[in-house]
Amino acid sequence: MPAPSENSHCQYHPRAAAGWFCPACDAKLCPDCAVVESVASTDLLSCARCGGAVEEWKVHRSHAPFSRRLLGAWKYPLKKSGLMALLAVGAVVALSRGVSGMLPLLPGLVPICIWLGSFWGSIFWIVRGTSMGAEHFTAPDFHDVHHDLVRPAIRGTVATALLWLPAILFALLVEDLDLPDALFWVVVVLATVLYAPMALIIAATGESTLSLLNPFKVIGIGKRLGSAYLTVAAWMVPLAMVHGALMLVAAQVYSLSIPLVASVLAEGISLYVPFVMARMLGLLLYVHGDRVGYGIESEFYEPALPGVKPRGKKRAARVPAQAQPEAHQPAPRPRFIELEPEPAPRPAAAPEPLEAQVVKAVETNALDQALELYRRLPENLASLPAASHVAVGQKAAAAGDYPLAIRALKQVAQLTPEDPLAPKACVILARLYGERLGDAASAQKLYRHVVGRYPGTDAARFAQSRLTAA
Ligand SMILES: [Zn+2]
Ligand SMILES: [Zn+2]
Repeated sequence: MPAPSENSHCQYHPRAAAGWFCPACDAKLCPDCAVVESVASTDLLSCARCGGAVEEWKVHRSHAPFSRRLLGAWKYPLKKSGLMALLAVGAVVALSRGVSGMLPLLPGLVPICIWLGSFWGSIFWIVRGTSMGAEHFTAPDFHDVHHDLVRPAIRGTVATALLWLPAILFALLVEDLDLPDALFWVVVVLATVLYAPMALIIAATGESTLSLLNPFKVIGIGKRLGSAYLTVAAWMVPLAMVHGALMLVAAQVYSLSIPLVASVLAEGISLYVPFVMARMLGLLLYVHGDRVGYGIESEFYEPALPGVKPRGKKRAARVPAQAQPEAHQPAPRPRFIELEPEPAPRPAAAPEPLEAQVVKAVETNALDQALELYRRLPENLASLPAASHVAVGQKAAAAGDYPLAIRALKQVAQLTPEDPLAPKACVILARLYGERLGDAASAQKLYRHVVGRYPGTDAARFAQSRLTAA
């Protein structure tokens, strides 16, 4: 992969954005300078100038305007999967709230815990899913009461504790100090706006509950995220305003006398803004997480021109690379003076082996296709390069196909443990276990393995930061 750069324009068309890189020409290429050819249902990319193979040009995720990504967060709960999640979580919240009101104090704590747990659990789930590139809300797997309800309830409450505890203490003090009310509220609102996003991110991503209470740690991480953090914090104000308005709507809906339906709808409506906020926090990590050691650096680079296909025309004849002068392009050789016979065309009927098709699909970034092909491959295929396993594993993880992701990533760790990609594969696998499947024990085991087996690598440093003191 070429060293990614933030300023990427075509070498031959300085106004056009580059989406590919030709190592032979050492040039970045625009869609007009790159060629796509479909061979055996795989897209092959080449350079329109020299005919050599080109690579996709990658830029850091922060290359795309962050504010535009954040605007998209408003649409996230309105997608089909998001609406289903609003209603499902709304139903759990409505039921548990309803039940808790009918019970005496102590037994009533159980439904309160379910209510808080399902609320915070879904918020944290969105933050983590988004931070790993998920486009849609995927249904969380339920493991056990402690992991899925009690822990999120505690973490969510602790994360917000620092916001309301000072407010309460301050309110008690302020009575004696006789400060103007306005000043008091300015301080409370500022603290909430600046502090809440970071505290929630830390709560969502699995730092220990105690560290949530350490404001220096929370503020330190916020500082490293820089202006992007302030942008997200600034969004908290309109979010709160929309939330206020929606709460009024929810109250109206709630007062409709339709049993259960009204309360589920009302809870669903009041979850909209929290879901948008969780999406924004996740996007902050998705784009800038590398600044705070979240994820692996190379994961933060993505195609410079996603979804754009090359439009260039293939050169009439391929010239051997060494015969090519540096500055002047030779005219295509006319066919009729060729003395050597044309090499016999390869029989088109013989299909390429599945493995080669997977490798090609990965190389040309046709990852959906790679996934389909990979599914048909037998297991324990040592001949497939580690890069293909890793690419398939990452894509499957992003697409929510965790069994396939685990299968592909495990192959790297088991079959090619010496490959430079092996530590990375282990870390992705560990994150999958820890952050998507709630299997913290397996995640820790893998992190320990990476630290011990691959010292000095980026992956080991990341794994070290994820090891919980046990
Ligand atoms: Zn160009
Ligand atoms: Zn070239």
